[in-house]
Amino acid sequence: MTHRVALVTGGSRGIGEAICRRLAADGMTVIVASRSKDKVDEVAASIGANGGVAHGRALDTSDVGSMKEIVKEITDSFGGLHVLVNNAGITADNLMMRISEDDYDRVLNTNLKGVFFLSQAVIRPMMRQKWGRVINITSVVGLMGNVGQANYAASKAGVLGLTKSMAKELGSRNVTVNAIAPGYIETDMTKDLNADVRDAFLKQVPLGRMGVPEEIAHSVSFLASEQAGYITGQVLTVDGGLYM
Ligand code: NDP
Repeated sequence: MTHRVALVTGGSRGIGEAICRRLAADGMTVIVASRSKDKVDEVAASIGANGGVAHGRALDTSDVGSMKEIVKEITDSFGGLHVLVNNAGITADNLMMRISEDDYDRVLNTNLKGVFFLSQAVIRPMMRQKWGRVINITSVVGLMGNVGQANYAASKAGVLGLTKSMAKELGSRNVTVNAIAPGYIETDMTKDLNADVRDAFLKQVPLGRMGVPEEIAHSVSFLASEQAGYITGQVLTVDGGLYM
C-alpha cells in the first residue's frame, strides 16, 4: 500500500485504541487523538514499541473551531491525511422525558457536530490527494432506536445521513465515505450494564455474545484498504446479527 496517514478520534481507549493498533499494523502512520493527551501519547508509544508508527494529538470533537487547524498541522507534519476515522463518542442516557438540554447538547455536539466539522476539514486535503477514506463509527442504536438513548440514537442516526451525503459529494474525487454500526462491544462505555440488562440484551443477539473492539477494528481496516475502493455510502453493521 502507498504510505497512508490516518487520524482516529477517540483513540485513547476502547474501540478507537483497537482501530489505531490495527491501522498501524496495516502500515499506516496513525494519529491517535482524544481529549486526554497523556493517554493518547501512551497508546502511540505502545504502538511504537510494537513496531508501528503513531503520534498522539489532543483533540476535542466538540470544539468545532479547532478542526481546521488540527488537520492543517497533521497534513503539514506528515505530508497528507488519507484516512479519517470518526470514532469518538459519548452517551448521556436517560428516558427522553428526563433528558436535559445540556445532555442533549453534549451528546449531539460530540457525536454529530464534531463528526460533521472534522469531516468538513479533511475534504480539501483528500480532494487534492484524489484519494481518501472517511469511516464513521455510528451504532445499531442509530438504526433501531433504544429506550433511554434518544439523544444518542438521534446523534448516531444523524451520522448516517451525513455519511451518505458526503459519499455523494466526494465520490467523483475518489474519496469514499462509509459507516460502521457496532452492536454491543466490551468497552468502558458498556462495562456498567447490570447483569439483567446484559442477559436480556444477549438473548437478542444471534451470536449470543458481546463483540470485542478488535472486531470493529478489522472492519475499519477493510474499509480503509485499497480493495474497498468501490464501496461508498454504506453502513456495515458489526453486531452479532442483532439488527437484520
Ligand atoms: P469509550 O467510552 O470506551 O471511549 C470513548 C473514546 O472517545 C475515548 O477515547 C474518549 O477519549 C473519546 N472521546 C470522548 N469524547 C471526546 C471528545 N469530545 N473529543 C475527543 N475524543 C472524545 O467508547 P467505545 O470505545 O465503546 O466507543 C467508541 C465509539 O463506538 C463511540 O462513537 C461509540 O458511540 C461507538 N459505539 C460503541 C458501542 C459499544 O458497545 N461500546 C456500540 C456502538 C457504537 P477521552 O476521554 O480521552 O477524550
